[in-house]
Amino acid sequence: MSSDIVIEGLGKTYAPRGGRRPAVIFDGLDMRVEAGQLVALVGPSGCGKSTLLNLIAGLDAPDAGAIRFDGRARDSRLAMVFQQPRLVDWLTAEENIALAFEREGSRPPGDARETVRALLRKVGLVDHAGAYPQFLSGGQRQRVAIARAFAVDPDILLLDEPFSALDELTARRLRLLLQSLWGEADGPRPTGVLVTHNMLEAALLADRIFVLNGHPGRFAAVMDIDLPHPRDPEDPALFAIHRQVLHALGEA
Ligand code: ADP
Ligand code: MG
Repeated sequence: MSSDIVIEGLGKTYAPRGGRRPAVIFDGLDMRVEAGQLVALVGPSGCGKSTLLNLIAGLDAPDAGAIRFDGRARDSRLAMVFQQPRLVDWLTAEENIALAFEREGSRPPGDARETVRALLRKVGLVDHAGAYPQFLSGGQRQRVAIARAFAVDPDILLLDEPFSALDELTARRLRLLLQSLWGEADGPRPTGVLVTHNMLEAALLADRIFVLNGHPGRFAAVMDIDLPHPRDPEDPALFAIHRQVLHALGEA
């Protein structure tokens, strides 16, 4: 079962560093992500996107407010994909994915090896199952990271600029892969938050775009993207959304 993410009155301030004033990242931020939706979080560098994701993931603690996963208050299975794939160098692609099952409660119901094989097929790496990360391209490594995230059948999937370290053609292929993984989900889809500074990527993938801006960070706009899935990355409608996001940021 996937869960709503409900954020209420979120406050986060980083202590002063090197004689600078404390950085108030959030002061009373509210946000709600409906179960099974994939939302994008866009905004300029430094506005708190990664901080918000880390707070949702529980990697960092808020100073004020609450973050709840409604429908499943505890025990939500959470997976994260970062800009860098963060693979273990001395494990093969297959072993890196299987590592996701090490945590108690994340073992697949059937044969773990078969689950990993099926994921490798889905991300197009079945012929690289035994390859070590250093022998994979950047795009292939990120495919492993995506497969590892989906391996635990997450209730909540958090992606922090997962394609921004890749060349544009590779990034495009991986966006389409993510779109198809989302569409093909056998059971309920995870609830997803995708951080990106690429507004076309947000328009391609998201059901809703949250435009974050300012210090402390506030939502300058929340836009529902009603285009049906799967979407075509060259659909002119995406460029119109791109323009609306720029407008919300005061850039156009
Ligand atoms: P974004 O992901 O939107 O680029 P971040 O969430 O990484 O932004 O950072 C928001 C602000 O918080 C930045 O000004 C950054 O320098 C500051 N910041 C992030 N993490 C820490 C930390 N651990 N300690 C102090 N300041 C931090
Ligand atoms: Mg960031």
